[in-house]
Order: sequence, then C-alpha cells, then structure tokens
Amino acid sequence: MSRLLVIGCGGVAQVAIQKCAQNKEVFTEMCLASRTVSKCDALKEKIEKAGYPVKITTTTVNADDAADVVRVIKDYQPDAVLNVALPYQDLAIMDACLECKVDYIDTANYEPEDTDEPVWRAAYEKRCKEKGFTAYFDYSYQWAYMDKFKKAGITGLLGTGFDPGVTSVFTAYAKKHYFDRIDYIDILDCNGGDHGYAFATNFNPEINLREVSANGSYWEDGHWVETKPMEIKREYNFPEVGQKDMYLLHHEEIEALGRNFPEVKRIRFFMTFGQSYLDHMRCLEDVGMLSTTPIKFEGRDIVPIQFLKALLPDPASLGPRTVGKTNIGCIFRGVKDGKEKVIYIYNVCDHQECYKELGSQAISYTTGVPAMIGTALVLKGDWKKPGVYTTDEFDPDPYMEMLNEYGLPWVVDENPVEVE
Ligand code: NDP
Repeated sequence: MSRLLVIGCGGVAQVAIQKCAQNKEVFTEMCLASRTVSKCDALKEKIEKAGYPVKITTTTVNADDAADVVRVIKDYQPDAVLNVALPYQDLAIMDACLECKVDYIDTANYEPEDTDEPVWRAAYEKRCKEKGFTAYFDYSYQWAYMDKFKKAGITGLLGTGFDPGVTSVFTAYAKKHYFDRIDYIDILDCNGGDHGYAFATNFNPEINLREVSANGSYWEDGHWVETKPMEIKREYNFPEVGQKDMYLLHHEEIEALGRNFPEVKRIRFFMTFGQSYLDHMRCLEDVGMLSTTPIKFEGRDIVPIQFLKALLPDPASLGPRTVGKTNIGCIFRGVKDGKEKVIYIYNVCDHQECYKELGSQAISYTTGVPAMIGTALVLKGDWKKPGVYTTDEFDPDPYMEMLNEYGLPWVVDENPVEVE
C-alpha cells in the first residue's frame, strides 16, 4: 500500500507509470504531476480503461520551482516522489523532498539547463580541471545531499534507469555472485532499432544530443582519460542484434562505479550509432544548432538546441514505427578463486513487443521499467536507507528478480567475446 507522486509525463514516465499500475501490491495510489497536465489526464484514462485498480489523480507542477513541488507534496502527502522529468529539475525536487521528508527517486543525474550561468560555470570549470572530464553533469551536486537526507531519515535513489541503473545493478550482481575482484568493466549500449526517420533521438533530444556530442572519457587506474567526441570506435557483434559500430562516450554511472568499486582498473562505456545519425549530428553541430547559449532571433531569445527539439519527432511518438531490438549490458573481467574469468550480463528488448504491451518504444521501456523497480524497492523497504545512493550500493538480487518479472529478462554469458 503506497502513495506515489510522479513528476513528468514524457516517454519514460509513460512506461514507469503503466508498470507501477501493473505492480498492484506496491502501488495503490498515484498522483501524476507534470508541466502539461493533459498528458497526465490522457494516461490516467488509458490506465483506468485497462482496468488496473490503482487510484490516480493528476495535477500541474512547475518542477523548476522547489516551492511549487512542496505545494504538490503537501497537498498529496505521498510516501515517495519519482522524478521522471528532466535532469534540470533534480535539485529543485530533491530540495522539496527534503523539506517534506519524503523519499526521492530519479533516472538521470543533475545538469543545469543554462550552462552559461556564471556561478555554475565557474564551479564547472574548476571541476573540469580537478577531475579531468568535461561533461556538464556529475554526481557532486546530488551526493552533496547525503548528510541532509540522512538527517531527515529519507532515501535518495539516484539513476534507476537502464544506463545508469540496471548496468550498475549488473555490476553489484556480478561482484556478489561471480567475482572476488572485478578488474575491467565495459558497458555496451546497443540500439538496433530503426524508426525510419533520417534523424531522430529516442529520448529527450536536448539531453540526448548534449550527451552524445560531448567529449568521451573513461576511468583508468583511478583517474579519467578524456577523448574527443566519437574518437574511439569499436565493432561488436551483439547477441540477437548483430554487428554494429559503437563509440566510447562519457557516461554517468562510470563516476559512481569508479568510486564504489575502487579495485576496478578500467571502466568504459560504448554506445552504437548509425552513420546517418552521426552525419546529421555533426552537421547540426557545425551550424550551431546544438548550442545551449541563447541567440537573438527576430527580437526574441531562442536557445538553438531547444528550437531543434521542437523540430524533431517527439521520442514518445516513435513507438509505432520502430522495429528491431536493443541489447544493453556489461562485460566484466576479474578473478574468482584465484582464476581469471569473463562474463557478459545483458538484456535484449524488442521495440515492437514494447509497443504492443505499453505503446512505447524500447528506449523508454528499458528506462521506465527500472524506474518502477527502484521505486518499488524503496517503498517496500528493501532499498530504504537514509542518504543518497546509486543502484550499485544495494543488494542487487531483488532488483534482478523484478527485471525478469516485469519485462526485462537478462542473460549471463560465461564465454563472451571481449571488446578490444
Ligand atoms: P521527455 O522530454 O519525453 O519527458 C520529460 C517530461 O518532463 C515531460 O512530460 C515534460 O513536460 C516534463 N517536464 C519538463 N520540465 C518540467 C518542469 N519544469 N516541470 C514539470 N514537468 C516538466 O523526456 P524522457 O521521458 O525521454 O526522459 C525523462 C528522464 O529520463 C530524463 O531525465 C532523461 O535524462 C532520463 N533518461 C534516463 C535513461 C537511463 O537509462 N537512465 C535513459 C533515457 C532517459 P511537457 O510534457 O510539458 O514537455
């Protein structure tokens, strides 16, 4: 029995909320709150028509404003808040949860909307120098809430999507059941889906393009090694998908895994991209369309990447036209009982199967299901621990069981091909 407040009603939220409705034992009441309340109302109607017993209400919230989130929390009195809006809102929602002493869950770590804001920019440039990576996001902003959350007796579960999220649970599971020591981790994110457009992103375009066009980096021997965007390319033959080109990116779980598994010598993250995606992205970048700095156009300020977002297909609309599969997982090399071993834990997800079940494509599905699982484990108490944590810091077993139960079954291959 629980009351959950969900903030955001985009592609990921639509899956997370429907999956909560399927998990009747845990989620008995939900309030769907977002900027555009009509999306919440439409989803409420869909869930009620499907006959799920969960009691749903809807409301509008401006999650950039902690006071407005506090207003909604005080009004609804939830047991937890699931933030599936954008990373820009993480800190405002965490502040509101702290004020109201309510557990907090999200799927992506904080980054600011305006990367030119002077106070933030100065701190960012200092961090780039000190830590050696230049991504706009990092965990420091949210880890800074550790003591405040502990004092308030509330749990903050950070990054319970697929990557980050499941990939970190896979790491905890590998360490618990397969290794005495992990030496190398390669996280591989392959989307073998085809939506038929020359160019579209499969989650929020602004967040996606910021991430992909940034410098890459990996963790090696206790420090970051930064690369130019798309500088390191490999090919890999993914089970059930086939041969794909993949590129090394900076990715947020590397930071948490590097901290929480200090014995690991190297952690890398690779994502597959087709040539058409890369050509379009390079061209858009060259003409300034990926910029986050406002420009004056016909007397008003516009942010180029936000204008581009308005032109691109809404990721939530890709479901009916996307065919093919995703394969996301981790290859671990380490030592067990004095012997070297390698395992690959992965999930394969079919875009059309996801669409048939929930009306969404596999990227939203593979993020929304783990968002529900992390929230359920906090609400049930299995993963309740005052403070702020990533998904690798809890017992992975109940999470792994729920992945099988709720549509993301995983495979352990004990003889995989490694990435060079
Ligand atoms: P969408 O853009 O589809 O949805 C975002 C939702 O948040 C929209 O409903 C939007 O409202 C709402 N929103 C935005 N700003 C505000 C605000 N100020 N106040 C209230 N509501 C707001 O994004 P996605 O669903 O694709 O992504 C959701 C989250 O999931 C992101 O943080 C993303 O980074 C993360 N993600 C994580 C992954 C992982 O594996 N860990 C993978 C993919 C995504 P409106 O409808 O009005 O636009």
